[in-house]
Amino acid sequence: MRVLMVEDDRMIGDSLRQALRLDGHAVDWVYDVAAGTAALATERFDLVLLDLGLPDAPGQPARPAGGLGLLRTLRGRGDATPVIVLTARDALGDRVAGLDAGADDYLSKPFELDELLARMRAVARRHLGRADTVLEHAGLRLDPATRQVTQHGAPVLLSAREFAVLEALMQRPGAVLSRAQLEDRLYGWGDAVESNAVPVYVHQLRKKLGAEVIQSMRGVGYFLRKP
Ligand code: CA
Repeated sequence: MRVLMVEDDRMIGDSLRQALRLDGHAVDWVYDVAAGTAALATERFDLVLLDLGLPDAPGQPARPAGGLGLLRTLRGRGDATPVIVLTARDALGDRVAGLDAGADDYLSKPFELDELLARMRAVARRHLGRADTVLEHAGLRLDPATRQVTQHGAPVLLSAREFAVLEALMQRPGAVLSRAQLEDRLYGWGDAVESNAVPVYVHQLRKKLGAEVIQSMRGVGYFLRKP
């Protein structure tokens, strides 16, 4: 998924971004409330990881509950993008304030990466209104938790980015996703965007799954074949 990380601690942010990328996510990273608010006003994200102790703007000191301001602004304008609050302290007050301000979940630092990834999947799933974790479409089965894909029961090995493209298509079967929408799922701002990336991954997926599974609509985008 495409993740916005709002975290002023460079060491935590750096290792988190690396781990999330390895798990196949596109991560955009900002360091303060102003940059986070601006990013959310202009781009669409699948999920926000929000540190609570944040500076309001670059060069300012972090405020203990600065992140709550971003969350209130976001919810105030009716934006329901899922938010997981990351709080440095295990203070009950912080967690309650985060949830009251509209967070979908929280984690206290330090946390296990596996737990964060599981909570990200759970929150994204709830947001999409689905109870079951596994995506199924026309003989394809994709499990975001185990990252396993099968086609008519046979395992299919995909790279992280091939998986991300297929997951995006399977989350909205029948919808046509544009190249830009799929690129969003693959890249954060810091990544070099290869102009041909999406067609290349679609080509690789077709080689592995069969040419007819992913259909193109010329000039519009890609969609999954009807079952
Ligand atoms: Ca912080």
